[in-house]
Amino acid sequence: MSKIQEIKGCIPPENYYNENLAGAFGKHTGNGWHKWNGLCPFHADKRAGSLVINKMSGAFKCFSCGVNGGDIIDFHMKANGLSFKDAFKELRGEVQCAK
Ligand SMILES: [Zn+2]
Repeated sequence: MSKIQEIKGCIPPENYYNENLAGAFGKHTGNGWHKWNGLCPFHADKRAGSLVINKMSGAFKCFSCGVNGGDIIDFHMKANGLSFKDAFKELRGEVQCAK
């Protein structure tokens, strides 16, 4: 198993977003996608409702500013201005079930 898969396996996207992003999962819109009841961290959002997050894959997309990514590592990089390597390291530090 690759280290990336290990992180994904150990941090369910649902837990990651609940812990790292203010707000909560809202209405399910299909295929694992949920509206995020909270503000988009990538633009000066004033009203909840533009960000959607996939609980299963961790993918995210904002219909207002257009930011998007395929998993929590992508989100962690963009939200914190980190390189892939650093985002990976930080997330790895949070992994509880690493062997
Ligand atoms: Zn946005």
